[in-house]
Amino acid sequence: MPVIPKKIKLAAGNNTLAIRWSDGHESAYPYRFLRGKCPCATCGEAAPVQDQAVGGLPILGQKPLHPERAELVGRYALQIYWSDGHSSGIYTFQYLRTLCPCAECTAAREVENPA
Ligand SMILES: [Zn+2]
Ligand SMILES: [Zn+2]
Repeated sequence: MPVIPKKIKLAAGNNTLAIRWSDGHESAYPYRFLRGKCPCATCGEAAPVQDQAVGGLPILGQKPLHPERAELVGRYALQIYWSDGHSSGIYTFQYLRTLCPCAECTAAREVENPA
């Protein structure tokens, strides 16, 4: 049975989106991390978000990036509407789970892909 989110919290504090999974695992994704992993075709071709600051200057005084809202796409994915107006990224649950930045998952990934 595929692991699916039981609970999705857009604003879990500390600029993170949190997901509690059906297997009991909990993931916390920093907004910028998640936005940078946008799987849409446009972002896939473009430079990472953090490198797109106008004129190469750091973005200061701008509202911090955050998800305005998120919608479930069928039973397999989450579409996130970002505060920068971008919304074409469909994050499948499977993809989200592989992105989980927690120590446990990171360690598991390192075992799967030894350097
Ligand atoms: Zn995108
Ligand atoms: Zn994890």
